[in-house]
Amino acid sequence: MMSENIKDYDIVIIGGGPAGLAAGLYAARGNMKTVILEKLIPGGQLNNTLDVENYPGIDHVTGPQIAQAMEEQTKRFGCEIVNTCTISEVELSKGRHLIKSDRGIYRAQALIVATGSEYRKLNVPGEKEYSGKGVSYCAVCDGAFFKEKKLVVIGGGDSAVEEGNFLTKFASSVTIMHRRDKFRAEKIIQDRAFKNPKINVIWNTVVNEIKGDVMSVVGLKVKDVVTNEVRDFPCDGIFIYVGLDPNTQLFKDKLKMDSTGRLETNERMETSVSGVYAAGDVRETPLKQAVTAAADGSLAATMAIEYIESLHDSIVKAK
Ligand code: NAP
Repeated sequence: MMSENIKDYDIVIIGGGPAGLAAGLYAARGNMKTVILEKLIPGGQLNNTLDVENYPGIDHVTGPQIAQAMEEQTKRFGCEIVNTCTISEVELSKGRHLIKSDRGIYRAQALIVATGSEYRKLNVPGEKEYSGKGVSYCAVCDGAFFKEKKLVVIGGGDSAVEEGNFLTKFASSVTIMHRRDKFRAEKIIQDRAFKNPKINVIWNTVVNEIKGDVMSVVGLKVKDVVTNEVRDFPCDGIFIYVGLDPNTQLFKDKLKMDSTGRLETNERMETSVSGVYAAGDVRETPLKQAVTAAADGSLAATMAIEYIESLHDSIVKAK
């Protein structure tokens, strides 16, 4: 019988980044039977972050170090974590949400969506073809392959400027190309880049094409958006940091989203379906940092606990 294969939990959390791990910690400490279903390994974007120096109370830590500390702490309080778990479908219905995965079917009284986001693509010719052959979205993972090479970083946010700085540890030069004439990165991150002798900045420029010689990138075709001039820009690699898209495909037509696909929530992290909460980068939020994700997760779990208790109270009253 199918029901025998269903694993029952009070709270199921999808995603094991800082939002999911904090939610797991708070849910387990609230005595809820809780599981985190993670598509790879816990940590989320922290696993691709070299330096974290704005998590209050921690002067400096690497992304993977703080991710591991969060994971161990969450497990210590009894939250289960299932790694490399691929979810195929969710069915949302009051008090018994079903999450279908390659590790079986999970049933939750409350569901917390903490699926985060993934790197946005430029969608230009050559990007897919040379991905892993000079096109990268992760400086921490791939930077060391570019010793004494000429690199280009695309974007003007915290990621582009910070990772551009990081890449100068390996590269002979790093050119940050941005589509307008001002970065949106935090001022302190910008100042470091402007002071770095290996970094050049090219403003008002977009990439039209990534060119290669079958095995590796050899350059870009770029366009100045002010003069409309198109020219070749030789380089050995390109790191693309043009933002993040939320992982919300599973919830299309099931939960309300904004125009960018992020889940709509109120200040209690409640989504448009009762008993379903969202936390971290996956939801509409003006700041996407480990600390805000963790705060979202702790709040989502606390509200989920309150919700489950109210479900039980209403059952008792009905008897
Ligand atoms: P982001 O802040 O959304 O910035 C994306 C950048 O890419 C923007 O400068 C944007 O240009 C540009 N861009 C977008 N689409 C483009 C396209 N098709 N072609 C060319 N350029 C394009 O993304 P992010 O830097 O990945 O950061 C994501 C979130 O993580 C942010 O909230 C950020 O604060 C946070 N974060 C924080 C830290 C830290 O605190 N140390 C580190 C990394 C990330 P416009 O400026 O013109 O829009």
